Amino acid sequence: MKRIFSGVQPSGTPTIGNYVGALKQFVDLQDQFDTYYCVVNEHAITVAQDPETLRKNTRSLAALYLALGVDPNKSAIFIQSQVPAHAQAAWIVQCLTPLGELERMTQFKDKAQKQDNIFAGLLGYPALMVADIVLYDADLVPVGEDQKQHMELTRNFVDRFNNRFGTKEEKLLVKPEIYTPKAGGRIMSLQDPSKKMSKSDDNKKAFISLLDDPKTIEKKIKSAVTDSSGEISYDPEDKPGVSNLLDIFSAFSDQSISQLEKTYANSGYGQLKTDLSQALIAVLEPMQKDYQRLLASSELDDVLAAGAKQANEVANQTLARIEKAIGFR
Ligand code: ATP
Ligand code: MG
Repeated sequence: MKRIFSGVQPSGTPTIGNYVGALKQFVDLQDQFDTYYCVVNEHAITVAQDPETLRKNTRSLAALYLALGVDPNKSAIFIQSQVPAHAQAAWIVQCLTPLGELERMTQFKDKAQKQDNIFAGLLGYPALMVADIVLYDADLVPVGEDQKQHMELTRNFVDRFNNRFGTKEEKLLVKPEIYTPKAGGRIMSLQDPSKKMSKSDDNKKAFISLLDDPKTIEKKIKSAVTDSSGEISYDPEDKPGVSNLLDIFSAFSDQSISQLEKTYANSGYGQLKTDLSQALIAVLEPMQKDYQRLLASSELDDVLAAGAKQANEVANQTLARIEKAIGFR
């Protein structure tokens, strides 16, 4: 069975962008693949985090994985810092990654711009991501389009590592493929459709979190930026705001974009927004009830303990292989 690894940072409450780009696939793929889903708290501390908030967000994100339908009988669900091999392998990856490759990552440049103080971990972020993926011999990594560049870096790293330390017969590391959804791989900010929706955006109106209540969802969709033409059609270049709403609608209703275009050919933005809000609420409201139950249960702790055990077993084996290859053992 082919392997999958992916993760989300506990840097805030996940947004509908995280859901469409990644979390929805986590659930869809767990039947056909051997799946490892991580709460990547080591990635989250690449920018400043308040300890209490980080603790809360970490547990909350794990509960959301479950509430969204990630099934602990099919997937290992775990917290990154509970699997020390991630940090150990990341150090080795950093020592084998040219500085220039890290410096030209657009995520580093974007995030560095927003920080008063830039710490070394922000630059090293992609090296940790390489470690995450190779430790599980992952064949496929379901992520949003913003992670394409990091995935390319991962693939290049694997080639370099295998060439230098492996043999023709023995490939030490598995070269992973990126898996992005056909539509909605890049959900945009509701307030500025030229930039991606992010859970760490300071402007809360820019995103809908998976834990927003119905009233908040309606308000945020109502105030989403569109344009003055009043026409509902899919054109990301010239109508980025409306096209973004259609991408979201399509993911939350399982209707194709062209179906939606037909349905709303003679409607205004008001109608589209009302119906979109209802589609979001229909998916999120029942999920949130389950989330509240899970958060208060000990079931969550049991799942995370079992997930960490399973992840440690796999990750330690790969780490041993890497350490042997480079001369640590
Ligand atoms: P942060 O701002 O802290 O980086 P984020 O919203 O970008 O938060 P991440 O934890 O970095 O969330 O990413 C989790 C997953 O969600 C990744 O697979 C990422 O590619 C995907 N993702 C993030 N933003 C979007 C988006 N706007 N549209 C689609 N997928 C997204
Ligand atoms: Mg991100």
